[in-house]
Amino acid sequence: MRSTPAALGGPPAFAEPVALTRPTVPPPDAVADDIGAVLESGMLTNGRHVAAFESAVAAYLGVPHVVAVSNCTTGLVLLLRCLGVRGSVVLPSFTFMATGHAADWNGLDIRFADSAPRTCTVDPASVRAGMDADCGAVMAVHTFGAPCAVDELQGLCDRSGVPLVVDAAHGFGAGYPDGTMVGGKATAEVFSLSPTKTLSTGEGGLIATRDADLAAELRVAREYGNPGTYDSRFIGLNGRMTELSGLLGHAALARFPEWLERRRRLAESYVSHLAGLPGISFQEVPAGARSSYKDFTVAVDPAGFGLTRDQLAECLRRENVSTRSYFSPPLHRQTAYRRFRPTVPLTGTDTLAERRLTLPLYSHMPADVVERICAVVHTLHRHREELAARLVAGPGAAAGSRAAAGPGAAA
Ligand SMILES: *Cc1c(COP(=O)(O)O)cnc(C)c1O
Repeated sequence: MRSTPAALGGPPAFAEPVALTRPTVPPPDAVADDIGAVLESGMLTNGRHVAAFESAVAAYLGVPHVVAVSNCTTGLVLLLRCLGVRGSVVLPSFTFMATGHAADWNGLDIRFADSAPRTCTVDPASVRAGMDADCGAVMAVHTFGAPCAVDELQGLCDRSGVPLVVDAAHGFGAGYPDGTMVGGKATAEVFSLSPTKTLSTGEGGLIATRDADLAAELRVAREYGNPGTYDSRFIGLNGRMTELSGLLGHAALARFPEWLERRRRLAESYVSHLAGLPGISFQEVPAGARSSYKDFTVAVDPAGFGLTRDQLAECLRRENVSTRSYFSPPLHRQTAYRRFRPTVPLTGTDTLAERRLTLPLYSHMPADVVERICAVVHTLHRHREELAARLVAGPGAAAGSRAAAGPGAAA
């Protein structure tokens, strides 16, 4: 391809903006009757559709107990509350803010752990270094959909007698190296069903656990801590899922395996078209594991590629391709987390935050869009010297990269 990059005055590669992600949902006709019936039933929240969705998810994941909640953040807050976690909690700095927020809502002292630049998931050696005498729990994340080193982390937690709480917001559909689905390990795993995740109900969350007592406690917790006697036993929340979300989730789940396969093929297409480009590398998934590819992310090494991550993002923005710099800034550099001083080195986290770029991906994205985005990246690489000179000198380069990571980046 010889086209001129838009940043050098050419026309944008895409006439219409390519969204970073879009929720894949069942066809409206498939749910219209059920939605009508719910509206007429007078039962709008936590009823039979939520219960049916919970059972279907439990069967899909191969986990005995699934508790549906209003969103993943609430699920994490309630889970830490039900486990009675006190003291400090070790969690990755390289994650979405909700992981840390859930710990802080429980009044816990946060100890950041580092993440590995190749896997993007929390480094067990760093977790171990962060576990002090006060440690009440460890939280881990299946970052971008790739399973974290859950068995190693479980070993650390078992030795200290503390729970392992997994923020599985990105992991619905992912698989562990032993062939089981993400959701069945740790003390509990919490999924998000918000619109940017692999399965969405608009808003929603799912807590999966093998612990029957914990599941029963979580069902009370999502009802304000009221066991049904109107005498609250502890401070819960309203964490219920609505019936409309439940029925949407149930209808989506039936179609989900097909959507997931399509998503994986698109991710593989990215890899095959970008492989070999100097300075571009991919997220490593543990041997035998399967990513859900909530996000498709590349690492941009400026020495190899010839452009920095932010320069590449700015060039793609001008081609009408949306990207995000997840997770930059990482938690330990965010304003709300300033009072938690790092106790271990976070160099892997800083490298990830500086180099990782998330490219557009959603399950029903047309295959040729991936190919065209890859062709654009190749073109930008060929023009790297001119582009680097132009973007350093040009006005608006900094403003542009801010816009590329701007509003709408949430969740
Ligand atoms: C999206 C997300 C959450 C929050 O999920 P909600 O359902 O929006 O509350 C938590 N953790 C991570 C890592 C996320 O990406």
